Amino acid sequence: MADPPCPHMKSCEMYEIFTFSETLAVWKTRYCQSDYSRCERYQRALKGQPVPVNLLPNGHLLEK
Ligand code: SF4
Repeated sequence: MADPPCPHMKSCEMYEIFTFSETLAVWKTRYCQSDYSRCERYQRALKGQPVPVNLLPNGHLLEK
């Protein structure tokens, strides 16, 4: 059974970026729509830690 999508989708800047980029859409499939609990952005938000705008779900920073 599939997990529900990430509850942070609406407020997540990275989710928006994934939605508009074909090359980054894979993140959405791997994290936002499935295993979001291991997303670094999600984890940090839960702990009340700052979340850099360009932080990827795996903890790396997206290069501009
Ligand atoms: S990037 Fe992480 S916090 Fe943002 S919507 Fe996807 S799983 Fe949720």
